[in-house]
Amino acid sequence: MIDLHGRNINKLRISLTEVCNMACTYCVSSLKDHRRSPDELSAEEMLSLVRILKEHAGIEKVRLTGGEPLLYSKLTEVVSGIRKMGISSIGITTNGQLLSRKVKKLHEAGLKNVNLSLDSLNTENFKRMGRVGKLNKTLEGIESCLNLGLSVKVNMVVIKGENDNEILEMLEYGVSKGIEIRYLELMGMGLLHKKNENQQVTMDEILSQISTRFSIKPIRADYDSTSLRYEVPGGYFGIIPNKSAPFCSTCSRLRLTSNGNLIGCLSNPAPISIRHLLEHPDPEKSLQKIVKKSISYKQDVAFTGSSLVMSRVGG
Ligand code: SAM
Repeated sequence: MIDLHGRNINKLRISLTEVCNMACTYCVSSLKDHRRSPDELSAEEMLSLVRILKEHAGIEKVRLTGGEPLLYSKLTEVVSGIRKMGISSIGITTNGQLLSRKVKKLHEAGLKNVNLSLDSLNTENFKRMGRVGKLNKTLEGIESCLNLGLSVKVNMVVIKGENDNEILEMLEYGVSKGIEIRYLELMGMGLLHKKNENQQVTMDEILSQISTRFSIKPIRADYDSTSLRYEVPGGYFGIIPNKSAPFCSTCSRLRLTSNGNLIGCLSNPAPISIRHLLEHPDPEKSLQKIVKKSISYKQDVAFTGSSLVMSRVGG
């Protein structure tokens, strides 16, 4: 569906569950904050909503996230159900803790790409930032994906005084594995709403660190990509500069929460439930109205911060 600013809204990001097995310090205050929504959709209901969004709102690409999508017991069924609808671009965003034992089945079901969240390559930093979880589990997960030939990207949220001394090490790891590292500027969401300024590491700071060891050449990214891409000798990296160089003007995403709310914009969430469409004999008209309303909330300039918790909307 094309919005008022001419953006083709064709990507759907689904938070399958709000439950997570890590408790990253910039996302929640403790593991207990990741509570399952009491009205979490079943896999069948989720698939029905995806079908409706594909048929009547032009969704062509799906990313499954959370919470932690690998904790969703019917994840494989969801992936294969989406593939059977004719959607071939299916990705997940995961912390990778459970990936090594689950990825083979997911790959067979139709999973195409995996974005791994990895904020540190240092065991202690990893533990401090994620509170729960083990670095070696995530690294094993990455290896399993590479062995299967899946497309892998690593997302690192860069935070001052926490992991900004690991920017170069992370890039060296990426180059050695043939993986694109994407550095994320910290977003003022959830518990960081209006409080993230002094922890932010800007795009310029990231580039400046990298340029001390690598020659950097900007390269073209997809028109609706959230990341700016660069080539370095032997590999690539990206920066997702939500503050320094906002990408709202080309944002093509809609978000669906685990309880069936559609969200058009992270800055102005205004969730609208589409759950009732499951019972609707002819959902098209009603859905089109909701999607139009939802995407009318989309910012066209920059992310302005939000009290919404990232695990509810899936990042
Ligand atoms: N559990 C999965 C994972 O860790 O990838 C999926 C959910 S997590 C909310 C999705 C992404 O959002 C992660 O890459 C995480 O680092 C990122 N994220 C969470 N809070 C953020 C913030 N305040 N700023 C930037 N990225 C954030």
